[in-house]
Amino acid sequence: MGTVAAHELRKSFGEVQALDGVTLDVPDGSFFVVLGPSGAGKTTTLRAIAGLERLDGGTVHLDGRDATADTPAARDLAMVFQSYALYPRKTAYENIASPLRARRASSGEIKEAVQKVSELLHIERLLERRSSQMSGGEQQRVALARALVRRPRAFLMDEPLTNLDLKLRVEMRTELTRIHRSLGGTFVYVTNDQVEALSMADQVAVLREGKVQQVGTPTEVYERPANQWVAGFVGSPRISLLACHAEGDRLVGAQGWSLPRPRWTTAEDGRPLMLGLRAEDLSVETRSEASLPGELYGFEPLGDRTVVDVKVGEEMVKVKARPSVTGTPGEQLAVAVDLDRAHLFDAGTGLALSEAGR
Ligand code: ATP
Repeated sequence: MGTVAAHELRKSFGEVQALDGVTLDVPDGSFFVVLGPSGAGKTTTLRAIAGLERLDGGTVHLDGRDATADTPAARDLAMVFQSYALYPRKTAYENIASPLRARRASSGEIKEAVQKVSELLHIERLLERRSSQMSGGEQQRVALARALVRRPRAFLMDEPLTNLDLKLRVEMRTELTRIHRSLGGTFVYVTNDQVEALSMADQVAVLREGKVQQVGTPTEVYERPANQWVAGFVGSPRISLLACHAEGDRLVGAQGWSLPRPRWTTAEDGRPLMLGLRAEDLSVETRSEASLPGELYGFEPLGDRTVVDVKVGEEMVKVKARPSVTGTPGEQLAVAVDLDRAHLFDAGTGLALSEAGR
């Protein structure tokens, strides 16, 4: 078993409300990612689950049992931090073996466990090196191995890939999901990197200013963002947002454009809305009944695709295109919109409009 349930966590540091009623239910065996920008309260949430933070309110249940008052050791959770405090004078082997030695495992058991986890993390050739003889990325993998060698109730990981270069980081994402599958434990993983979250998680909780904005699968969070802020935080290039309102069977933009009103929207006429359009749901290369009049602003070539920046009135819209796309900045063009995939938010509350009937 390895369920983690944090309910209504509250914590303030002086004026700062770091956690403002955070509730997370992590199922046994899941790869659960807590995603949010810097300062959102991710580390504080993890520390609260680990028992390292004195809370102002809320409860932590582990495997269904109230562990709110338990010491960190009694909770039986393994934590991997951003900074990978290894013993500098010990070899990688000894660092990885240390939690097992503390538990008085036999040297045979230790050898087997270290060997197995080293293979998983591809660090066999580092085992005899001291931490001071390893790069930051290597040390980070050794620290991960040291956590994974145990069989705790759950693993708590705080941005464990931040010190790796981009190539290794991308590789480690795949490795970690593979390790998770083969170990079968519960992972609670904190990151501010939405690509990391979407690529690794079974479930994502999006956190902002100490409040959970949405919990769902990566697909749900990306395709059905609960509010405008989640829509903007998740996805690259960033979703384009255009002010508008409904008028009969049309959506009318503050910048003078008009589109057929998506049949699924329930907004009453005149209510201020924001239309959210993802770059892949827009095109400057095809024609459509539903299109926005724009002016070509510039290109961002990204190798396999190019993002075209188009000005619609005073608002900027990002459109995904083939790398071969051409045009001259300043020229007028039409941006085709896939309205079935568009998002509408209440401009006042930022909440997504009901999508019943989609
Ligand atoms: P990051 O991605 O930058 O690590 P985070 O989402 O993990 O950010 P937290 O470290 O949980 O955020 O911090 C949440 C808020 O609480 C921040 O505003 C931070 O400045 C504040 N905070 C955290 N720890 C302390 C502390 N020990 N004393 C004072 N303020 C703190």
